[in-house]
Amino acid sequence: MDFLYHARHLVLSRFSQADLQRISDSKVMIVGMGGTGSAAARLFAGAGISTLALVDPDIVSLSNIQRQQYSIHDVGEKKVIAAVKYLKEVNPQVDVTPYDAVFDSDFALSRVNDFDLIYDGTDNITTRRIINDICVKTETPWVFSSAIETYGEFKAIIPGKTSCYECFMPENAGPQQTCSQIGVLNSVPSTVASLAYALGLRILKGDNVPGDIHFIDAWNMNLEKIRSARNPQCPVCSRGDFQYLVEKYSGFDPRTVQ
Ligand SMILES: [Zn+2]
Repeated sequence: MDFLYHARHLVLSRFSQADLQRISDSKVMIVGMGGTGSAAARLFAGAGISTLALVDPDIVSLSNIQRQQYSIHDVGEKKVIAAVKYLKEVNPQVDVTPYDAVFDSDFALSRVNDFDLIYDGTDNITTRRIINDICVKTETPWVFSSAIETYGEFKAIIPGKTSCYECFMPENAGPQQTCSQIGVLNSVPSTVASLAYALGLRILKGDNVPGDIHFIDAWNMNLEKIRSARNPQCPVCSRGDFQYLVEKYSGFDPRTVQ
């Protein structure tokens, strides 16, 4: 560990040196490198996570730069490739692996097992259900995060301890609006990512993180949390019925759905 690099974390009373070592030995996968995912990646790299895997099939477009951690020079580049370049400049010690891929059921089944934490930077509900299924199945903690308009939402999901995504967002919850339809204030994704990242970091540190759902209204400056109990009838975390890890979601591409 580079003590000068991590000096401000080392003096922080919340961390011992052993905590920081545990965090720096961790492996984190970020699914979706948009506004929330790219901001979280910057923070995980700064915390000295040993291995970061980035999953996103998109290229950087001009309409991304307003809120995502890319520059004008990255337009036309694959997001994961552009991200590796800036993350290496943030912290060259971090091993960053880019996956220019869709997080479908095949990818989930073949890759997630090795990771200590999955960070959800995606913007669609089907990918979140695939993340939820694979994380519950493999008992991998994950952090859900979402930003739209002037609102944000995030939650820690610890399989076997907290409610899962299906517990609070059941299958029949209906369609979601997207940022491309109703917009997003450019400060919201990085605000959500900063807080959701802190939950993720505490999970890696070994804290007992509650499964509350956190809501941000970044216009009227409200931050609320509601309790989210496990559903004893939940098909995913109670019955182990992983409907999103099947053939139908192999080759799933959210870009053709929205
Ligand atoms: Zn559940």
